[in-house]
Amino acid sequence: MPKRTPKNPTTLERRRRKLAAQIAEIDHILPGSINIAMNRCGKPNCACHADPPKLHGPYITWTRKVAGKTVTRRLSTEQLERYKPWFENNHRLQTLISELQTLGIERLEADQHHR
Ligand SMILES: [Zn+2]
Repeated sequence: MPKRTPKNPTTLERRRRKLAAQIAEIDHILPGSINIAMNRCGKPNCACHADPPKLHGPYITWTRKVAGKTVTRRLSTEQLERYKPWFENNHRLQTLISELQTLGIERLEADQHHR
Protein backbone atom coordinates (compact mmCIF):
# COMPACT_ATOMS: atom_id res chain seq x y z
CA MET A 1 0.00 0.00 0.00
CA PRO A 2 1.43 3.40 -0.96
CA LYS A 3 2.03 5.74 1.93
CA ARG A 4 -0.13 8.85 1.67
CA THR A 5 0.68 12.18 3.22
CA PRO A 6 -1.76 12.71 6.11
CA LYS A 7 -4.10 15.62 5.58
CA ASN A 8 -4.29 18.71 7.72
CA PRO A 9 -6.67 18.18 10.71
CA THR A 10 -8.19 21.64 10.16
CA THR A 11 -9.03 20.80 6.55
CA LEU A 12 -10.52 17.48 7.64
CA GLU A 13 -12.62 19.17 10.32
CA ARG A 14 -13.97 21.63 7.75
CA ARG A 15 -14.98 18.73 5.49
CA ARG A 16 -16.56 16.90 8.41
CA ARG A 17 -18.72 19.89 9.32
CA LYS A 18 -19.80 20.25 5.71
CA LEU A 19 -20.80 16.57 5.53
CA ALA A 20 -22.61 16.76 8.88
CA ALA A 21 -24.57 19.79 7.60
CA GLN A 22 -25.55 17.89 4.44
CA ILE A 23 -26.71 14.93 6.54
CA ALA A 24 -28.76 17.25 8.75
CA GLU A 25 -30.54 18.59 5.64
CA ILE A 26 -31.80 15.17 4.56
CA ASP A 27 -35.56 14.66 4.65
CA HIS A 28 -37.25 11.30 5.26
CA ILE A 29 -35.51 8.17 4.06
CA LEU A 30 -36.94 4.82 3.01
CA PRO A 31 -34.92 1.59 2.91
CA GLY A 32 -35.05 -1.02 0.17
CA SER A 33 -35.61 -0.88 -3.56
CA ILE A 34 -38.40 -0.28 -6.05
CA ASN A 35 -39.28 -2.47 -9.00
CA ILE A 36 -41.63 -1.42 -11.77
CA ALA A 37 -43.04 -4.15 -14.03
CA MET A 38 -45.39 -4.24 -17.05
CA ASN A 39 -46.98 -7.62 -17.74
CA ARG A 40 -48.76 -9.74 -20.33
CA CYS A 41 -51.59 -11.96 -19.13
CA GLY A 42 -52.63 -15.42 -20.29
CA LYS A 43 -55.67 -14.38 -22.32
CA PRO A 44 -54.76 -14.61 -26.05
CA ASN A 45 -57.31 -11.97 -27.13
CA CYS A 46 -56.30 -9.39 -24.54
CA ALA A 47 -54.90 -6.01 -25.60
CA CYS A 48 -51.58 -7.02 -24.01
CA HIS A 49 -51.03 -9.42 -26.94
CA ALA A 50 -52.07 -6.88 -29.61
CA ASP A 51 -49.67 -5.12 -31.99
CA PRO A 52 -48.63 -2.72 -30.58
CA PRO A 53 -49.29 -4.34 -27.19
CA LYS A 54 -51.05 -2.54 -24.38
CA LEU A 55 -49.36 -4.10 -21.36
CA HIS A 56 -50.83 -4.43 -17.87
CA GLY A 57 -49.38 -2.34 -15.13
CA PRO A 58 -47.33 -0.69 -13.95
CA TYR A 59 -46.99 -3.05 -10.98
CA ILE A 60 -44.84 -1.26 -8.47
CA THR A 61 -43.25 -3.28 -5.68
CA TRP A 62 -41.14 -2.11 -2.80
CA THR A 63 -38.75 -4.69 -1.39
CA ARG A 64 -36.83 -4.39 1.83
CA LYS A 65 -35.27 -6.53 4.54
CA VAL A 66 -36.98 -6.75 7.92
CA ALA A 67 -35.05 -8.73 10.55
CA GLY A 68 -33.22 -10.59 7.79
CA LYS A 69 -36.38 -11.45 5.85
CA THR A 70 -37.40 -9.94 2.52
CA VAL A 71 -40.66 -8.01 2.74
CA THR A 72 -42.44 -6.94 -0.44
CA ARG A 73 -45.26 -4.44 -0.64
CA ARG A 74 -47.29 -3.02 -3.53
CA LEU A 75 -47.23 0.73 -4.09
CA SER A 76 -49.58 2.81 -6.22
CA THR A 77 -48.29 5.16 -8.93
CA GLU A 78 -49.21 8.06 -6.66
CA GLN A 79 -47.24 6.56 -3.79
CA LEU A 80 -44.23 6.02 -6.05
CA GLU A 81 -44.35 9.64 -7.12
CA ARG A 82 -44.61 10.84 -3.55
CA TYR A 83 -42.03 8.55 -1.91
CA LYS A 84 -39.43 8.17 -4.67
CA PRO A 85 -37.35 11.07 -3.30
CA TRP A 86 -37.24 9.29 0.08
CA PHE A 87 -35.54 6.28 -1.52
CA GLU A 88 -33.11 8.65 -3.25
CA ASN A 89 -32.47 10.35 0.11
CA ASN A 90 -31.56 6.96 1.55
CA HIS A 91 -28.92 6.46 -1.15
CA ARG A 92 -27.61 9.93 -0.61
CA LEU A 93 -27.36 9.33 3.14
CA GLN A 94 -25.43 6.09 2.59
CA THR A 95 -22.99 7.96 0.34
CA LEU A 96 -22.53 10.72 2.91
CA ILE A 97 -21.97 8.17 5.70
CA SER A 98 -19.24 6.38 3.76
CA GLU A 99 -17.57 9.73 3.04
CA LEU A 100 -17.72 10.45 6.77
CA GLN A 101 -16.15 7.05 7.50
CA THR A 102 -13.32 7.76 5.04
CA LEU A 103 -12.85 11.13 6.73
CA GLY A 104 -12.65 9.41 10.16
CA ILE A 105 -9.88 7.16 8.88
CA GLU A 106 -8.01 10.14 7.41
CA ARG A 107 -8.36 11.97 10.71
CA LEU A 108 -6.98 9.02 12.69
CA GLU A 109 -3.99 8.92 10.35
CA ALA A 110 -3.52 12.69 10.59
CA ASP A 111 -3.68 12.59 14.41
CA GLN A 112 -0.95 9.94 14.51
CA HIS A 113 1.21 12.03 12.19
CA HIS A 114 0.72 15.34 14.02
CA ARG A 115 1.09 13.92 17.54
ZN1 LIG B 1 -53.74 -9.08 -20.90
